[in-house]
Amino acid sequence: MSKHTQKCNSCGQESTGELYHLGFSNMKCMYCDSCPKVLLLKNRELLEKNGIKFPHLQAGDEGWEFYDRHLLPIYKQIEGLFKPCSCGGRFRAWALPRCSVCNDFLFGGKPEPDKPIHWSPKHVFVTDGSYNDTEHLIDNGT
Ligand SMILES: [Zn+2]
Ligand SMILES: [Zn+2]
Repeated sequence: MSKHTQKCNSCGQESTGELYHLGFSNMKCMYCDSCPKVLLLKNRELLEKNGIKFPHLQAGDEGWEFYDRHLLPIYKQIEGLFKPCSCGGRFRAWALPRCSVCNDFLFGGKPEPDKPIHWSPKHVFVTDGSYNDTEHLIDNGT
């Protein structure tokens, strides 16, 4: 984890926060589809407990689809485990990081919900708070 400042592609203002390298920290993330908040997926058992399994398919395998579209139903299941964000938005595997100043997309571009190939970013940028997966489950057993 390190301090990071990112100039927004939309408004030109700087967003400051913590940058985590997801590979090193063994973590995944889903951004909120409406605000800069992000859900950090740290608990690897959580998917297993909920019966969610990632198929390990290579291009050309039976069941494999272009842009890894065979993963779409899996991501939907994962998204469905969690409560909405405090802003009313949902955490989506396809959501992009938003600027903490203007709330537009920090790196420009547009989300592509039908191309899961872009859904596992190498870094997560936390500017406006984050949620912990276990605490944010719809059914956390408490
Ligand atoms: Zn939100
Ligand atoms: Zn901005």
